[in-house]
Amino acid sequence: MERNKNIAKLREGYLFPEINRRKRKFLENNPNAKIISLGIGNTTEPLKKHITKALVEASTDLGTVEGYSGYGDEQGLTALRDRIAEKLYGGIVSGEEVFTSDGAKCDIGRLQVMFGNDVSVAVQDPSYPVYVDGSVIIGATGEFDDSKKQFGKMTYLPCTPENGFFPDLERCKKTDVIYFCSPNNPTGAVSTKKQLKELIDCARDNKSIIVYDAAYAEYITDKKLPKTIFEIEGARDVALEVNSFSKPLGFTGVRLGWTVVPNELTYDGGEKVIDDWNRVTCTIFNGASNIVQKAALSALDDAGLDEMRKTVGFYMENAAIIRKTLKDVGVEVYGGDNAPYIWARFPGRKSWDVFEEILETANVVTTPGSGFGPAGEGFLRFSSFGHRKDIIEACERLEKNLG
Ligand code: PLP
Repeated sequence: MERNKNIAKLREGYLFPEINRRKRKFLENNPNAKIISLGIGNTTEPLKKHITKALVEASTDLGTVEGYSGYGDEQGLTALRDRIAEKLYGGIVSGEEVFTSDGAKCDIGRLQVMFGNDVSVAVQDPSYPVYVDGSVIIGATGEFDDSKKQFGKMTYLPCTPENGFFPDLERCKKTDVIYFCSPNNPTGAVSTKKQLKELIDCARDNKSIIVYDAAYAEYITDKKLPKTIFEIEGARDVALEVNSFSKPLGFTGVRLGWTVVPNELTYDGGEKVIDDWNRVTCTIFNGASNIVQKAALSALDDAGLDEMRKTVGFYMENAAIIRKTLKDVGVEVYGGDNAPYIWARFPGRKSWDVFEEILETANVVTTPGSGFGPAGEGFLRFSSFGHRKDIIEACERLEKNLG
């Protein structure tokens, strides 16, 4: 058979395999180099005791007649859905609107299947690659325009220091689906309530649906900033939200995410989005792991929430160390205060060139901003996910080589 033509449209492989390829090549030439990665947003610290105990207990239960369970509800464990609604959303969404899953990225892929390829799509530029690449795979983006470094049918919303990392919404009028991520990967920017209200009003006026990615919500320390789009009036009519335990709890390998689809959210014809999401969930997903869902329940009791705060606090201390180091050597930095990513600007330089230079001189791996979209050119993303001793050593090297 012939290959899916849309897959062939994907650009230069996925960003992180390319970073790994360059890292491997560097190591071939410098076999004794001790590379430290501040690149990939993968968690590094062990799970804490309360959670591991819950994981062990849930696994042990499966080995007993009374404790065994097979398939569960595709939408998730009712107790967990209710607890997420209560503990993380303060009751402003209901448990029935929460669908648990194997992760936010997987949910984004299934949302793309649900919306289909006959939609127009807008993304923040730069953005988490899955919004664009998943849309490419389902055929919603048109052809790639090499001169603009963009897909023809896709609207890019530049988010730069000059606009405070909040896009000009005039650009996404008449867009069906708007992907919006706050706290943002990669820029670390967090939108204010006022900005989200503007986004919601724009979506309502244009009959767009916002896919709000709140995977880093627990990293928000400033109480004035919204942790969920549902804190903002009008959001229930125009937005759904994806979220995850990957980053606040270190569940990157354990896998537990969720999507909130409000009852009020409808398509132009009045059909409810929640009904379609339920249908998609039941058709091509078979529910999150029962072991993991039980552990996630424990993550939301008092001891679990305390562990979550500690995990987030640890990575945020890392972020502060990286941010200070870069600032001290005169690099222009953004983010890192309510998000685990630091977005650093290198004026007049290409991202991949600065990536190579830092790899060669400091043996530190970063992520080139241009891999997240054309507006990321000239930037690097530094991730605060790392062991403390590695962060400190990487920062010492950066200080020496960038200073
Ligand atoms: N959304 C954003 C913005 C992310 O940065 C990531 C992971 O890096 C994800 C979603 C993926 O979350 P999960 O591990 O739940 O699939």
